[in-house]
Amino acid sequence: MKFSPAKPALTGETLETLTAALAARGQPPFRARQILDWVYKKRARSWDDMTNLPKALRAWLAETYALLPAQLVLNRQSADVTDKLLLELEDKALIETVIIRVPQDGVGLDHSRKTICISTQVGCAMACAFCASGLAGLKRDLSAGEIVAQLLQVCYAEDARTPRARSELASFDNIVVMGMGEPLANYDALIRALTILNAEWGLGFGARRITVSTSGLVPKILKLADEPLGFRLAISLHGATDEVRARIMPVNKAYPLARLLPAVKTFSEKHGRMVTLEFILIADVNDSLEQAKKLRDIAQDLHAHVNLIPYNTVEGLPWKRPEVARQLAFAEVLERAGVSVTLRREKGHDINAACGQLRLKTEREREAAA
Ligand code: SF4
Repeated sequence: MKFSPAKPALTGETLETLTAALAARGQPPFRARQILDWVYKKRARSWDDMTNLPKALRAWLAETYALLPAQLVLNRQSADVTDKLLLELEDKALIETVIIRVPQDGVGLDHSRKTICISTQVGCAMACAFCASGLAGLKRDLSAGEIVAQLLQVCYAEDARTPRARSELASFDNIVVMGMGEPLANYDALIRALTILNAEWGLGFGARRITVSTSGLVPKILKLADEPLGFRLAISLHGATDEVRARIMPVNKAYPLARLLPAVKTFSEKHGRMVTLEFILIADVNDSLEQAKKLRDIAQDLHAHVNLIPYNTVEGLPWKRPEVARQLAFAEVLERAGVSVTLRREKGHDINAACGQLRLKTEREREAAA
């Protein structure tokens, strides 16, 4: 599902495509670098900011491209140092981008480890039973330009927090493609956006600090394994047996564990890097010690890291988070076997940070006001 904007986004152009578009207008190749430098390094917010470009070229750019295809509607900052940016696209669709600040030592007040979580679709077709983003289904894919624009909005938000020192994207530790949508269902736009994100003429963010998270689209995992840029991979597992996983993740019917796990192994072996298994702990669904033991076996076989995430309650859904003692007992099964495991401390609960909740809430408020 695609949306055709009035003008393509400049943030979706690569150095090559922009150079070609400019060459067709008789412009020399160095102009493309100059323009991209204004967008990504100098962070121009209007065409008139690009003062070293001829006026006629600026006018052509303004006629031809949208400078930034995602505008900030809301920056909801939470007490636990998570920022949730709600962005509006040209067709009024809403998407979420989240900044998560974690203390280096895991407990202190030094919020120096920063992760950005970006979205790749408006809504999601995967219909995971526990997820707010899947509740209203898929509206459309994001374009590469809309994916990249989220990172520029993060830069602007950071600049606003520290007005004296302009923050650089490089100061972030990780970018995770784990927000709204199934990234691998929007594969071409995703790869183009990550290429722009990684390029030295773009945002210059190291590919090895970018994690693509998928619900388990096996053919696309194998395709991603062949990409030359070495992105990291995370799998939303959430069930250690087909029975439990299929109950909460419909994708498991098309790609059961017998197909998914070998694909993950192939990726891991090709890249020589640890894959992460995401596992949202939901009370009385997947938090038993039997599930913990099965997950331990899977993680050991894949040499994978396990990220345990206590469930964030979603309005309108019946699922609950397990008691802390049960979370710890689950984690201990993995730890005792030497599996690399983290039990995620909650981030952003007070700003509806569970995937898709802020967007859903805002859309419902808009509908009620209409
Ligand atoms: S958890 Fe991810 S894949 Fe599943 S419905 Fe939500 S956004 Fe889609």
